[in-house]
Amino acid sequence: MSKNKSSESVKVVVRCRPLNRKEESNGPAGGIVQMDLRLGQVILRNPRALPSEPQKTFTFDAVYDANSKQRDLYDESVRPLIDSVLAGFNGTIFAYGQTGTGKTYTMQGAWRDPEKRGVIPNAFDHVFTHISRSQSDKQYLVRASYLEIYLEEIRDLLDPNHGNARGLELRESPDTGVYVQDLTSCVCKSIKEIEEVMNVGNQARAVGATDMNEHSSRSHALFLITVECSQPGPDGRKHIRVGRLNLVDLAGSERQTKTGVQGERLKEAAKINLSLSALGNVISALADGRSGHVPYRDSKLTRLLQDSLGGNAKTVMVATLGPAPQHYDETLTTLRYANRAKNIQNQPRVNEDPKDALLREFQKEIARLRAQLNHRKWRSKQKKEQVDGEGWERDGYEETDGEEDGVEKEAEEYVKLEEQRLEREKEAIRDDQFLLAEEKQRLLGEKEKMMGDLRMEQQAAEQLTAKYKAMESKLLVGGKNIIDHTNEQQKMLEMKRQEIAEQTCNEREIQQQMLVQDEETLELRETFTSLQQEVEAKTKKLKKLYNKLQTIKAEIKDVNDEHVKNRQELEQTQNELTRELKFKYLIIENFIPPEEKNKIMNRLTFDPEEDQWKYQPLVPAESKSSQMKKRPTSAVGYKRPISQYARVAIAMGAHSRYRAENIMFLELDMTPPNTSSPDGSSEAGPNQSSSLDNSPIKEKGVHKSRSWCQSQKSITSSSSSNSLAACHAATAAQ
Ligand code: ADP
Ligand code: MG
Repeated sequence: MSKNKSSESVKVVVRCRPLNRKEESNGPAGGIVQMDLRLGQVILRNPRALPSEPQKTFTFDAVYDANSKQRDLYDESVRPLIDSVLAGFNGTIFAYGQTGTGKTYTMQGAWRDPEKRGVIPNAFDHVFTHISRSQSDKQYLVRASYLEIYLEEIRDLLDPNHGNARGLELRESPDTGVYVQDLTSCVCKSIKEIEEVMNVGNQARAVGATDMNEHSSRSHALFLITVECSQPGPDGRKHIRVGRLNLVDLAGSERQTKTGVQGERLKEAAKINLSLSALGNVISALADGRSGHVPYRDSKLTRLLQDSLGGNAKTVMVATLGPAPQHYDETLTTLRYANRAKNIQNQPRVNEDPKDALLREFQKEIARLRAQLNHRKWRSKQKKEQVDGEGWERDGYEETDGEEDGVEKEAEEYVKLEEQRLEREKEAIRDDQFLLAEEKQRLLGEKEKMMGDLRMEQQAAEQLTAKYKAMESKLLVGGKNIIDHTNEQQKMLEMKRQEIAEQTCNEREIQQQMLVQDEETLELRETFTSLQQEVEAKTKKLKKLYNKLQTIKAEIKDVNDEHVKNRQELEQTQNELTRELKFKYLIIENFIPPEEKNKIMNRLTFDPEEDQWKYQPLVPAESKSSQMKKRPTSAVGYKRPISQYARVAIAMGAHSRYRAENIMFLELDMTPPNTSSPDGSSEAGPNQSSSLDNSPIKEKGVHKSRSWCQSQKSITSSSSSNSLAACHAATAAQ
């Protein structure tokens, strides 16, 4: 594999949990995993093999046995990664292994017990401690998101109704790479807040699952932390670095038993295997280095981890093992998987001034609010000075932080004084004997209005201040909480611990190198004094090589066996899926009319981006296209074009039967419109309606209804007559 200068390999560490009580009581055999902490080696014993058979040995960046402490794993293998994230790199830690081997224990651990806190709580601590200890010219913004991938669907665990919502989509942008669209992200200002976010997500995860252990063995959980840091550069401008940290607890790597499962369960089993085997394929393709194509697109998980595997992130993989003999096969698979991942090369780089940095937007918004606020304060100050009758000098426009509180008080004082002044003026107006009552009323009204304006302005200013303060409090400034953390001794202790961790790592690396060199060079340098000696040495060498050959042969056999097993499983899945497909076909062929089927088939297209079949929108036929393109203006907001009458009827709350319909309610008009009783009243009895016939026909429509409209009060009107009247009123108004 070609290594360029900036590339570094994925760091792989292995952790083995202690035997649990059940396993201890199962047999006296003990564990099958041995570890050489100094060399970083795992030695695996096959419980079914003969004692003469060589044991399998794997070497990793670090190994942690049953007695290992959470803190050791963190300091040695995770701390450097978090430091990189704080410096603006992308970082990923993922735990991989069979269910029940300690993935969740390693990632989360027991939160309450400081000794047993896992990677995630330790990382929270680390990030916020780092921020509080950094220099005061640095500004930070920390955000957190939490999602899970279940059945190849991404669920937002911080969305309160994620249970009902559709799965989220993945998108890709040239700046940030692959990201999840519409994912909730919470700004966190302290360890407590980010822990709260984690809790909310964990609860959401547990609520959706009937059995948490069952669920977590089938879903991948990703906790994402984004740390943005702004610092003035040598050019005097503020530069922003964005570090993204993915903390991943993968689904259990064991083979899901598929025999006899159907429907949802089958789909589920197929999909879990799909995403983990896609991860395996990606790792193989990357570790191999020869095949150009890396199948990231085969699953959501691999797309999300694209940056972390062969991309621009720094990555740590924690492979977890159980020591029980009955899980030998799974343990071996995990070790092989981890061994392959060691060869992946990433090209980490710092994210400097990315376009989508939220911190930049926050800073801009804060600056804008501040300017607005300052302007407001300056205005009130100016007014106050006018009121005080003092000369005003232009000095208050650009306030500094120190003056802010003073100005705020001044503004408040001004409002108070103004109020008092208005009150006094009102009193004076009331007491004034010479003013007319009307004039008094007008002047008082004016003063009232001025007071109202004043209050509104004050309210607006308060709102603006609150918004400004809320925005500003989201940003964390380095050096502020330094008093909490000036425990120098603790700081020193941490530094020493870090040094020791680094030293251990170096030592291990040197030991590993020495071991390899020993094998290669020692024998080359040997000189033979006699033939007999040469024979002996060569026989020894032969024996060694023979052993190696046997190991490799066994390895080949193992790998072949695994392949066969895999193929059989895939065939089985395929058979089951084919059976399902036949079942669906049967239903389609027999119960769906062919023309309907064709119609649906013609509308379906496959979207490779989302890996989904989609309905095409219904497009009108060519000839009709112009007809249908635009809704007539009269139809805006309604189902169909609608008359003025109906619209008014709706507005008036007419009988619901006729609402929004172009039906004119034509009741017989009982009142003769243009005949009036001799005494001038518009009352008319039903018996007089015959006089209607006398009126000229062309006037019927217009005059009659108008008169009816005028005399409507006298009629016991139905709702429709009301609306009709209103209609006329409306048309008349137009
Ligand atoms: P997974 O998430 O891989 O399914 P868990 O983290 O739930 O496994 O671990 C299963 C059980 O083993 C838990 O009860 C956990 O406390 C225990 N366990 C795992 N790793 C360790 C360890 N290193 N030390 C002590 N107990 C452990
Ligand atoms: Mg788990």
